Amino acid sequence: MTRLHWAIRMLPALALILFLAAPANAQEQVPRVTIVATGGTIAGTSETRTSFQSYRAGQLPIEEMLADLQPEIGEVADVSTVQFDNRGSGGYEVADYYDLTFAVEEALETADAVVVTVGTTTMEEFAYWLDLTVQSPKPVVLTGAMRPWTVIGTDAHANLFNAITLAASGRTTCFGTVILMNDEIHAAKEAWKSDDYRMNTFISRLQGTLGYVDERDVRVFRAPPRIQRCDDPAQWRTPFDLSRVAKEELPRAEIVVGYQGAGPEAITAFHEAGVEGIVLAGGSPYFREAREAAEADGVIFRTQSRFRSGRDNLMPQKTRLLLLLSLAFTDDPDQVDEWFALYGAPEFDLADPPLTSNP
Ligand code: ASP
Repeated sequence: MTRLHWAIRMLPALALILFLAAPANAQEQVPRVTIVATGGTIAGTSETRTSFQSYRAGQLPIEEMLADLQPEIGEVADVSTVQFDNRGSGGYEVADYYDLTFAVEEALETADAVVVTVGTTTMEEFAYWLDLTVQSPKPVVLTGAMRPWTVIGTDAHANLFNAITLAASGRTTCFGTVILMNDEIHAAKEAWKSDDYRMNTFISRLQGTLGYVDERDVRVFRAPPRIQRCDDPAQWRTPFDLSRVAKEELPRAEIVVGYQGAGPEAITAFHEAGVEGIVLAGGSPYFREAREAAEADGVIFRTQSRFRSGRDNLMPQKTRLLLLLSLAFTDDPDQVDEWFALYGAPEFDLADPPLTSNP
């Protein structure tokens, strides 16, 4: 018998040995989820088990937190972790956001979905940034907590567990980035932290939540309009592919709040500091001259409601991120307008709905 014939005859036996030697959980494949951890209250530690509101955010390593969720989380997903950093959300800058986008993209090369743990103070900005810049349609789920990991009755454990459950379900593929807090799923563009203490702090004013995670049951009732482009990745992606722009080249964009009798000095100061885009959150009759002088030098303005609602429901902080990203890729004001219509106020295209084109 030649070696080749011998090898062929031995194949079934070899397959049986490999099958028996495989660990039991490898036979029941669960989705791969990577947690990219940035810190926040969810990774916070407290002096006592009842220090619900006095604690230090961004302390616990994500590996340790994940270990606390075993063995149950192992039934939901094969979870790996990346400790991006461990800080309060307010300690991050746009340059960090840039790196975070790449960290998420890199994780998605091997994982089926990513969960990002974030402080809640600026979670809505983290979410919208990732929504605009991550190029992969795989699920990206942000979560955090209002109570630190170490107190009784914390929301931290449940939020992390539910975020992994949601990510692993694949139900938000092509949704862009979503937030999972307090069992509720929110679209990145709509989510708003409405209270500094309460666990039901995140709301999606005007549009409503997308769905819920009830134990292992993921319930989705609506989707962001970009899901309509799921079949066409080039259309689904935004133009804000950060691999085409250097971190150092990201422009500055700032916010000026309008209120009764607000003076023009903040606009002038930003203009003189070389800021390329300014969001006016509200207006003032005293802004006009300073604005015209800045515009003459190419500064681009967007006016937005102070009340986080109105025509496009885009709060000033998110308007600023969209303006900043737009100006990183163009200096043509018409192009900026077009991108604001597409990404700042996306709508379902009911005249040509690709989702219903399949019988
Ligand atoms: N209080 C914040 C939180 O809820 C701290 C932070 O944003 O990092 O996570």
